[in-house]
Amino acid sequence: MIHATVIDMKSGTAGPDLSAFLVPSGVDPLTQAFERRPFAPPGHASRPIDPEEAEAILRKVYATPRTQAAAAYVHVPYCQNHCLFCGFFQNVWRPEASAIYVDDVVAELERHAETPLVASAPIEAVYIGGGTPTALHAGDLARLIAALRTYLPIAPDCEITVEGRSFDFGRAKALAAVEAGANRFSLGVQTFDTGTRRRLGRKLSGDEVAAFLAELVALDRASIVIDLIYGLPGQTADTWRTDIERAAEIGLDGISLYALNIWRGGPLAKAIEAGKLPAAGDLAAQAHAYVAALDRLTALGWNQVAQAHVVRSVRERNRYNRMMKAGSPCLPFGPGAGGHVHGHRWRNVIDMENRGEMIAAGRLPAEGLSRVPPFHRAQSVLSAGLEAGELVVSTIDALAPGFAAAAQPLFDNWAAAGLGSLADGRFRTSRAGAFWMVTLASALTSLLATLSPPMTDHRRTA
Ligand code: SF4
Repeated sequence: MIHATVIDMKSGTAGPDLSAFLVPSGVDPLTQAFERRPFAPPGHASRPIDPEEAEAILRKVYATPRTQAAAAYVHVPYCQNHCLFCGFFQNVWRPEASAIYVDDVVAELERHAETPLVASAPIEAVYIGGGTPTALHAGDLARLIAALRTYLPIAPDCEITVEGRSFDFGRAKALAAVEAGANRFSLGVQTFDTGTRRRLGRKLSGDEVAAFLAELVALDRASIVIDLIYGLPGQTADTWRTDIERAAEIGLDGISLYALNIWRGGPLAKAIEAGKLPAAGDLAAQAHAYVAALDRLTALGWNQVAQAHVVRSVRERNRYNRMMKAGSPCLPFGPGAGGHVHGHRWRNVIDMENRGEMIAAGRLPAEGLSRVPPFHRAQSVLSAGLEAGELVVSTIDALAPGFAAAAQPLFDNWAAAGLGSLADGRFRTSRAGAFWMVTLASALTSLLATLSPPMTDHRRTA
């Protein structure tokens, strides 16, 4: 959209076309500001590197020390089943995969432990995500966490998150994880409504999930956070309100509120098209659900710390997510994990067989190496600011000269439309602006792209 460069009608000079991101006057900012919320995967503005040259460049990345603290991401590419709404399913879980997978990642940690990239500066957050890490057997999950603490320069107050679901988790596995060093569990609940859960492929009832969460909270050994999704097929204002009330009363440390994304051609889209499920909530329904949840939770004393995350206790630091939004380096481990550091971004090959062959041949099992755009730093400041609800315009302008002047028409329009306020060089989002955050970020990122010099050939910049 905004990538198109058009001629400014007044000056006759080339400038970005901002019209798609200007809110028409008189519309309801919460439900009608824009037509859609674009999905921007991490690294969408990065430039691919020729696979022939990727190995040598990546070896250089591993040989270059960091001066900055980093996060580590470990990917567990297995799930017990494919939940209809999910675009992240990769492999069906097999119990015999547990030890093989963990052996593989422990060996990878050992191989990289002494590289300058890994050993040179602290790791302040570890995220074991997926997929479903809680599917791993208790002993293997503990082994994985112990290896991370052995081979990585883990900071004393490092946040170590285990992502997963309540099904096949249980108290004993949770205890094994915290004994090994985990201090945060992030569980996908999505909804407590049993009928909706079952239709979407979730195995436990809402009551079973709530009871298990209460058990985790009672352990008092880790921050317990859950995801809830609004806009699910069949969800009503009443069932959503019930979800929020149930989540609020369990004693959790944090709650993330996500809008449903329907993946084109995915199982949820097909089920709705075939009439097997009711239609999903539209953008207006999502917007109202988002605001209703935040209004209720903040009234109950929860603190909104990010666009989609509220916290109730000081135990919940949300550090990994904050680091990612701020563009901190991230070291990837495990098949399918993505990382970025030293101006490059890549992912580990996910197929275990290919991965094994590449390792046996002495190669790094990586693919999709790309170089981050020149405006990466400014983009990170921008996305971290929007997440926190406040952009300091001069900070971005210092990193991308010309940004303040170029963005002024957008900020003026958004403030007049009710998406935020502009004062003292700061743009603060309203509830409506927070709902449309990805659209605002997309507009401002596209603006940054037009301000920065074109990316040169990677051979000269790597
Ligand atoms: S929602 Fe979680 S458990 Fe379900 S398919 Fe997606 S990653 Fe797997």
